Amino acid sequence: MSQSVLWKFLTAADLRAKAQSGAIVVLPVASMEQHGPHLPVGVDTILSEAVCQAAAEAIAADTPVVVAPTLWCGMAEHHMAFGGTFTFDIPTYRAVLLCLLRSVERHGFKRVLIVNGHGGNIAALSAFLPDIVRETGLKLRVTTYFEQAKAALAEVLEDQESVHHACEAETSLMMVVAPDTVRRDKLPEAHGPAHSSTPPAGIARYRSFRDITPSGVIGDARRSNAQKGEKLMAACRDGIAAVLRDPATWS
Ligand SMILES: [Zn+2]
Repeated sequence: MSQSVLWKFLTAADLRAKAQSGAIVVLPVASMEQHGPHLPVGVDTILSEAVCQAAAEAIAADTPVVVAPTLWCGMAEHHMAFGGTFTFDIPTYRAVLLCLLRSVERHGFKRVLIVNGHGGNIAALSAFLPDIVRETGLKLRVTTYFEQAKAALAEVLEDQESVHHACEAETSLMMVVAPDTVRRDKLPEAHGPAHSSTPPAGIARYRSFRDITPSGVIGDARRSNAQKGEKLMAACRDGIAAVLRDPATWS
């Protein structure tokens, strides 16, 4: 039986050996937030972990790698109005990430790829990067899993170019990764605006999702199916596997 790529299923001795072998640590970071009437609140956590596990399994034969436990809470103030949602504030999120990364570093790992699965985390993660690199000395890289499969996603999706929210893409993926959690009877209500409208160039503003989409969905989940989900999952897996393997990622 081959060893799991997931940190949580290994022993401390296994993990000491992983560090010794120069293994890359993949840290999925996600969220626990409303995902419309038809999907569970764990979507981003479930999908990030699934993509990271699949990518790690795809390269494990020739590249030492381990997938750390998924950070299931992120920046989700914009979803709080719907209920069912947890959020960090910025100082807490920074502090938690720093503690996780310091722990990884203290065990002798050198390279970490944070794989994010939630749009609301992107700005915070970029902002933390200089401080965390200075404070840990890790070779730390950050990406968002659907950003590494852009062309493939655009090809598979009919109604949207990339991942929106509780949309054609996320729903199709969930139909593959956790099919029993998709409330198919709620799909007829599972649609919203095609985009979260953007303000004029050069203007930042904050809006609750409640004010953008009453259903909690951006995009149209009625367009989802498991065949698309299989293709999307393969594209996301291959995208992250390629990033992990590419020497340029770590140069
Ligand atoms: Zn999501």
